[in-house]
Amino acid sequence: MTPALELQQVSKTYPPPTTVTALSDVDLVVRRGETVAITGASGAGKSTLLSILGTLERPSAGTVRIAGTDTSTMSDPQLSGVRAWHIGFVFQQFFLLDHLSVLENVATGLMYRGLPAGERRRRAAEALDRVGLADRMRHRPTQLSGGERQRVAIARAVVGRPAVLLADEPTGNLDTANGREIVRLLATLRDTDEDTTVVLITHNGAVAEAMERQIRLQDGRIVDDTGVTA
Ligand code: ADP
Repeated sequence: MTPALELQQVSKTYPPPTTVTALSDVDLVVRRGETVAITGASGAGKSTLLSILGTLERPSAGTVRIAGTDTSTMSDPQLSGVRAWHIGFVFQQFFLLDHLSVLENVATGLMYRGLPAGERRRRAAEALDRVGLADRMRHRPTQLSGGERQRVAIARAVVGRPAVLLADEPTGNLDTANGREIVRLLATLRDTDEDTTVVLITHNGAVAEAMERQIRLQDGRIVDDTGVTA
C-alpha cells in the first residue's frame, strides 16, 4: 500500500542570516494508519519536520511524497489544496476564534471544500459529536476548559476526514488528566476513521509511549526509530 508520508533525503537549511540546518538527510516512511510520536530536545528539528510533512515548509533538498504524490513540483496553490483535502493540523495553542461559536469554529475546517454552509454545519456537528462535545456547539471557546478547547481544535482538524493528522505538542498546555483524554481521543479517531495517520510532537514520555511508533530527532537527524526493524 502507498505510504501516507514519505521523505527521501530531506534537508532543510534556513536562509541567511541564520543559515541553520534544521534537518539533514532525513529518510522517513509513515504507513497509512500509523500513529507516530516525534521526540527530541528543543531545536532538534521537530517542528521543521512536522511543517515539511504538512507541506507548510518546502525542503531545501530531497523529496516529500504525500499519499504517493511528489510535492516538489507543486505550486503553492496546489500545496494549499493538498493541505485542505488531506491534512489536518492541531497546535498546542488551539488557535480557536473566540468570536465564533464552537460549531462555527469547527466548520471553518471545511472552508476550502466548496461545500454549502448548511452542509459545513452538519459535518461540524458530526465531528463535535465524535469528540464528545455535542452539547457545547453553541458555546464560545472562552466558555470551555483547555481540554475541551483542544477537542474543538481536533474536531476542526478532522471534520474533513483528512488522511493525515499532524499535531504539534497537542497536550503541551493541558494538565495530565486532560492530556490523557486528548491522547485517548486521537487513538479513537484513528480506530474509527480506519486509515487516519497521526503524527505528533511531544515532550511528554507517556504521550509518546501511547503512539505505536517513536522517532527521536537530534541535531536534525533521526537517531532512534522504533518503527524500523533491521
Ligand atoms: P524543535 O521543534 O525540535 O524545537 P525546530 O524545528 O523548531 O526544532 O528548529 C530546528 C532549528 O532550526 C533550530 O536551530 C531553530 O532555531 C532553527 N529554525 C527553526 N525555524 C527557523 C526559521 N524560520 N528561520 C531560521 N531558523 C529556524
